[in-house]
Amino acid sequence: MVNDAFDFKPQFYHDFQCIGTDCVDSCCTHWHISVDKPTYQFMIYKSKLKAEASQAFQPTQQGHDFAEVRLDSNQRCPMLTATNLCRIQIEDGLEHLPNTCRLFPRQSLQRGLHLTEHTLLMSCPEATRKILFEPSSMNFQRFDVPNVTTKHYADYHRPSWYHDVKTWVLQTVEQPQHIFESKLYTIGFAIERLLRYVGHEENFNRHLLSIQQVNFQAVLQTQFKQSLVQLNQQVHFFMFMLVHLTSDKHQKLRRQNPRLQSLLSLVTEALPPDKRPVAFVKEVLSQPLSEEAGADMQLVWCNYFKYSVYNSDFPAQSMGHFWYKFGYEFIFLRTLILLFSKQGVLTQERIILVFQSFHKALQGRVFQQLLHAYEQEKQQQGVSLSSPLNWLLLPPFKSTMKTRAGSTIAANLGESTLVVE
Ligand code: SF4
Repeated sequence: MVNDAFDFKPQFYHDFQCIGTDCVDSCCTHWHISVDKPTYQFMIYKSKLKAEASQAFQPTQQGHDFAEVRLDSNQRCPMLTATNLCRIQIEDGLEHLPNTCRLFPRQSLQRGLHLTEHTLLMSCPEATRKILFEPSSMNFQRFDVPNVTTKHYADYHRPSWYHDVKTWVLQTVEQPQHIFESKLYTIGFAIERLLRYVGHEENFNRHLLSIQQVNFQAVLQTQFKQSLVQLNQQVHFFMFMLVHLTSDKHQKLRRQNPRLQSLLSLVTEALPPDKRPVAFVKEVLSQPLSEEAGADMQLVWCNYFKYSVYNSDFPAQSMGHFWYKFGYEFIFLRTLILLFSKQGVLTQERIILVFQSFHKALQGRVFQQLLHAYEQEKQQQGVSLSSPLNWLLLPPFKSTMKTRAGSTIAANLGESTLVVE
């Protein structure tokens, strides 16, 4: 099918360049690397490396990959040199790399027949650096692609209010006079309100208009300050994650993700031996907001939020689901950042470790499973998590951590008792 189409590319996508041998977490190690059929056939029959290729690549028995790389005993691609250069690229040329290797961390998000949005995966540390730290990283450019032959993508429509809601959300998050947490609270409140009117266009637009008024934000600033006095749910959620990630159940996940393992070890080091972990995390979370040492976290959070909005096609897809997931991601990542900032100057490398290891090891299936388990635990306690604001407007909270998850992390961290205050 021939169409006029257009591409959207953010600045971070333009600016990205693989840093190869300088990379702290090369995508050629500890990872499933899929191989497409043309590359597999070239490697087996024509490559200068064909003698080794039949050992290095194996056809897959299931799934949509044709073949995959068989990693060596050190979890490295066997086509890597000792200095982490790719021998396929050296011997056969860039054009013979498997599609996965040539494209990673680039990703195309197809929005129907006419629109492709391009992004980078934050599983790559260098992509994470570009996304989070460049002030212009979230500027976008549109490119017209006339007479392009497209596949038969499903038709795709965004709601009529898509641009108005998105514009308001992005303008809100950019306001320099407010801290990120309060902007997030304002947006969350607005989303919750708007969600009630999805499908009722007239009501939806009326409420959107009132949300766009300046005094809407002023009222929320006051509410936000009042809502922050309770931290228990944030502490509980973070400790729940920590308990599960350090448990035997996730041993394989940690083995496959050395960066996650390093992150968890650093968290353990950050917890002082003379204090109970829960009490310490609560103390850390009580420190003044957005005052993480030595880092421009306002820029980092703002860029991360915009990146998430862009990748999720917010608000075209479920606004509530986006908010629910982003809220918990934010609590988890922010607590890690605050814990590390307690130790002194927060370096760019440490911030990259937090975000990149999260995206590589947890984002997606594992995080969803953990959220599901958390949700089940809360349901057993009779606490509703349906509101996207629950993470800031905290309900009275009763913990079972002392008897279950708490005792596990306490054992892992050498503590005898763990009680949520
Ligand atoms: S993870 Fe990113 S920077 Fe590192 S080797 Fe892969 S593409 Fe290059």
